[in-house]
Formats: sequence, C-alpha cells, structure tokens
Amino acid sequence: MDSKEVSLIIKWSGKEFPIEDLTEHDTVAVLRHEICKKTQVRPERQKLLNLKYKGKPVTDDVRLGAMDLKPNFKVMMVGSLESDIKEAASRPEDVGSVVNDFDNEEEDNVAFENKEVYLAKINKRIKDYTIKELNPPREGKRLLVLDIDYTIFDHRSAAENGTELMRPYLHEFLTSAYQDYDIAIWSATSMRWIVEKMKLLGVTDEARDYKLVFMLDDAAMITVLCPLRGVIEVKPLGVIWGKYSQYSSKNTIMFDDLRRNFLMNPKSGLRIKPFSEAHLNRHKDKELVKLAKYLKAIAEHCDDFDTLNHRRWEDYLAKKRSSH
Ligand SMILES: [Mg+2]
Repeated sequence: MDSKEVSLIIKWSGKEFPIEDLTEHDTVAVLRHEICKKTQVRPERQKLLNLKYKGKPVTDDVRLGAMDLKPNFKVMMVGSLESDIKEAASRPEDVGSVVNDFDNEEEDNVAFENKEVYLAKINKRIKDYTIKELNPPREGKRLLVLDIDYTIFDHRSAAENGTELMRPYLHEFLTSAYQDYDIAIWSATSMRWIVEKMKLLGVTDEARDYKLVFMLDDAAMITVLCPLRGVIEVKPLGVIWGKYSQYSSKNTIMFDDLRRNFLMNPKSGLRIKPFSEAHLNRHKDKELVKLAKYLKAIAEHCDDFDTLNHRRWEDYLAKKRSSH
C-alpha cells in the first residue's frame, strides 16, 4: 500500500516547527504526539487553531489525508503557559511506560489492521536513519536486539556506580550470546545517553569477549496509533531488516521489558521481566542466566524463529532439558 507523506509546519510561540514524519493515514492524535516531541507542549494543551475538518475544529480521530492539506501547510498553535512548558519539559522520560504496557496474548493478534500504512515510515527510516556499525556483522550469525532500561540496567535507582545498576550476569550473558548472535542495542533515548550507559556498564570495553554490532536510538523508532493503546512509539525491526538483508524475522530476537515496543513484530519479541530496584534484586535476579540458555537452545535447534513462541520460552527450556 502506498501512503502519501504529509508535511506540516507548526507555528507556535514565534517559531516554526516542521513536522515531517507523518503520512495521510496518521490521525490528528499522532500529529499531536509528533508536535509534543518537537515543542514539549503536551497533546492536551495544544490548540490547533486553523486545522479544520468539514468546517469544524478537528477531533483526534480525523485522518490527515481526509483534510486535504497543502504540503507544508502552516498550523497555528496556541495554548500552554510557561509553567506548563516547564512541567512538560521536566517530565520523566519513561512516563507511563510501565502502566501502559499490554500483556494479553490475544493482543498479539489484534487486528493491527493498518500495519501496511506504517511501511512508509519504516521505509523512511531505512533511507534516512544512519546505523553506525561498531563492529562488522559476522557471517552466519543470528541477531539479538536488546533494550537497555529495565532490561539490562535499572535506570531509576540510586547507586554509587554503574555496576550496581547492571542486571546481574550481564557480561556472562553477552559473552554466551555472542557465540551465536550479533548483538545490537536499541533504546528509546538519544544516542548520547546510550553511549554513556554502555560505557558505564563496561559493555563497550575493548577487553570484553563480545562486541556490539551497532546501537539504535529513539530516532529509529516510529509513532503508531494502536487501536487499544492510543499513540505510542515502537521499535520496528523492519528498519534493521531493510538495511541488513542477512537479518530477518527468521533469525532475529529482541528483548524488551515493554511488549508494546514489539507491536510491529510481535513474534520476534521476548518480554523480559523488568529489572528494577537493583539494590533489592541484585542478589537474586537470574533472568539473564536462564535467557542465555534459551538463546543457545534456539540457536542450536531452530532454523526459523518464526516458528517459536517466545512467550513460552521457559517451557521450551524445560522441554529441552527433560528430553536430554
Ligand atoms: Mg526498557
């Protein structure tokens, strides 16, 4: 399906903010989300003055394609007192991230009917997003994509140093995974922070027995309208698959503590139990030990990851164990 791109300019507070990451299938709710990313003005505070649909102010469910807007149409925005802006700018990065996740198995199959309409956004990322390779991909390896916050790192707790916030057995896990997988990082924050966190955890140290192939940041994510959850940002593996033909859903697995990050590729995602309150859990969390075994088992026994159900990873391991 071809989706036409829609480009708009938001005029607000004496400045112009181009919004380019939209298609005709996106709704006003998605537009508001994109405006928020550019201006920090929260969606509910945005008054979009001259955006009309059938002569009336638009509602959030109206599709941009239905409004017949000229390219680079200027939308006048008002609203938002200084204090609101300050409040918005200081909001925690992961606001709503835990409460707004979904976990029903049925939701994997929810007609995420308009998947195709997001292909335009994915294609745009494939074209415009630069993946900086840290180390070359290796012939015949599968791909493991790891989230950072709450997956391998507790980014909320106070601590003296990075090791205290690191999920236990991280280096052992990565060393083991590296035998069968190229390892990538994908975090919903800016690259600057990703680089800092990896340094803090010692993951990018030269002396490690494993190496990262590349890291992706929030700019590689796309905004989608999820029928059940509203507007969310997701990590579409299609961006990586479009740039590297050796990786596909057959050989890629992604770990994240938020299932909604997998929305575009639910079968490739494994939701890991979140690692938080490091000071309490540092001594008992063994998820990475178990998951290293799972990665090893599927690398050895499975030629097509599409046939796996990662929701049942613990059963898979138990079965493998009892059959030996
Ligand atoms: Mg996370």
